Amino acid sequence: MSLIVKKFGGSSVSDASGIIRVAGIIADDYSEGHDLVVVLSAQGDTTDDLIEKAAEINPFPSRREMDMLLSTGEQASAALMAMALERLGLPVVSLSGRQAGIRTSAEYGSARIEKIDCERIRGELDKRRIVVVAGFQGTARNGDITTLGRGGSDTTAVALAAVLRASLCQKYTDEDGIYTADPRKVPGARRLSEITYDEMMELASLGAQVLHNRSVQMAKRCGVELEVLTSFERKPGTIVKEVTSVEKIKISGVAKDTNTARIAVMGLRDEPGIAFRVFRVLSDARIVVDIILQSIGRGGTKDISFTVARSDLDAAVASLETQRGALGFSELDVSADVAKVSIVGAGMMSASGIATMMFEALCDAKVNINMISTSEIKISVLVDERDADRAVAAIHRKFFEDEG
Ligand code: ASP
Ligand code: MG
Repeated sequence: MSLIVKKFGGSSVSDASGIIRVAGIIADDYSEGHDLVVVLSAQGDTTDDLIEKAAEINPFPSRREMDMLLSTGEQASAALMAMALERLGLPVVSLSGRQAGIRTSAEYGSARIEKIDCERIRGELDKRRIVVVAGFQGTARNGDITTLGRGGSDTTAVALAAVLRASLCQKYTDEDGIYTADPRKVPGARRLSEITYDEMMELASLGAQVLHNRSVQMAKRCGVELEVLTSFERKPGTIVKEVTSVEKIKISGVAKDTNTARIAVMGLRDEPGIAFRVFRVLSDARIVVDIILQSIGRGGTKDISFTVARSDLDAAVASLETQRGALGFSELDVSADVAKVSIVGAGMMSASGIATMMFEALCDAKVNINMISTSEIKISVLVDERDADRAVAAIHRKFFEDEG
């Protein structure tokens, strides 16, 4: 018997039948003797609908009133779920963020959880009640309702799991776990039974949208085990934790990120301080740089290439152009038609030949590599965007399907 925090996303509770289905899952876990804290998102597209409703009335509403409005979506879900559980004859209480003791900073729309006073929740659990908490919200010191930013119910769930020392935080979605590649694009993609926090964070930042980096970071920091699973079928999902038991696979996943663009700064002087000056221009413009490559100096000049988010490309080019004289480059070569393809795996740290396998797969698929970067648990290559899906498929085949 243990304490479990279960979080259900908007798609799992989008209508009455969804709520009743989820209530059935909760009832089963309760009857096994677990203490349960259930965190809910707003039903379906409720949050978007509320945002639209607000826009019809005032195109520039204050953030305070937006939070007042948006927090109602989660509150409605919590009350409806409690009613569904009541109907099953189970002891239950629903709580708003405030009633659950969730105190946040005062940044309306993007508040941070500062502390959770769990007395109320503990008291309810002691009475063997199921506690249903409205996700995504809390209250600031002045008593105002705040929200935690889009997708913030995950954060509520992980934070509650941490302070309540839950043995597990389960996130139910319409995906049944974390896959070795996007299953919609790579038919051979497999569901992982386990993955480490670090791998999950790399995959999330590479475009796997199942878990937000913020909640994975928090789970890692607080030592909360996460499970990603579906509410549409009764089967185990993927567990995210610090160390996974050794599986035979060498890597955990292959990901593609098309929100990337490459800039080459050509004909820079080959002397100390040049890289510093180039990247200071970008950091002053608050542009995040990803892969960096510098050519060997030749004839007193060198080139520096790097990638930025595609959405930052114009700003990056503009800021470099304004400094053209000071930086002394001859030209900028820019390409937005690129994609980053990466493999991620904690097992890489101790295995050799992983990069070779990846490059062999790309060679076989005749995909040209523009740039390469590596970290302890990740190898990324920059390829032409039109080659990206083929690259992912070839790499996936090499690591997961050719084994025997
Ligand atoms: N309902 C909010 C949103 O759609 C919070 C959440 O779902 O986690 O962003
Ligand atoms: Mg939602």
